[in-house]
Amino acid sequence: MEDNGGLSSSDRFLAIETLFTQALGLVAPWQVDQVTFTPEAGRIDFQVKFGAASHACPACGAAAQPLHDRLARSWRHLDFFEYEAHLHAEVPRVACTDCGKVTQIPVPWAREGSHFTLLFEALTLMLAPTMSVLAAGRVLRVRSPRLWRVIEHHGAGARQGESCRGSCRRRR
Ligand SMILES: [Zn+2]
Repeated sequence: MEDNGGLSSSDRFLAIETLFTQALGLVAPWQVDQVTFTPEAGRIDFQVKFGAASHACPACGAAAQPLHDRLARSWRHLDFFEYEAHLHAEVPRVACTDCGKVTQIPVPWAREGSHFTLLFEALTLMLAPTMSVLAAGRVLRVRSPRLWRVIEHHGAGARQGESCRGSCRRRR
């Protein structure tokens, strides 16, 4: 890595963040702000930044409402090779001057309330019909009750009746 084509180290870091912004499918004003690679822990962490000062109110749709504050949240993402990937973001809440509500804005990579990205949920749903939730949990390194919540949300629970065999803690 000696020859970096004359880029300064800050240019190279910028390039890495831009690369991962694209790899994660993020579009402005969301972008990867920091990439932390910890090989000894087997993980890669992406800090994602919302780079705008306003957002439409999620409650009533009023355009360009001021940001009220930001709440730190994290999501498990698809592995990058053998490394567990995690997204982190301080997600803004808007204080709407129109309806008066303070509401957290939705993030484009995950559904509301989920601890997983949509792509990770898609992988879960792809594995679900082929193996038990317990086995899928081992493959994905996620506790099976958490996977059940994903599967049930997407309405795939009915197909799981056969492979569950009481190994999960499904409540229905
Ligand atoms: Zn509003």
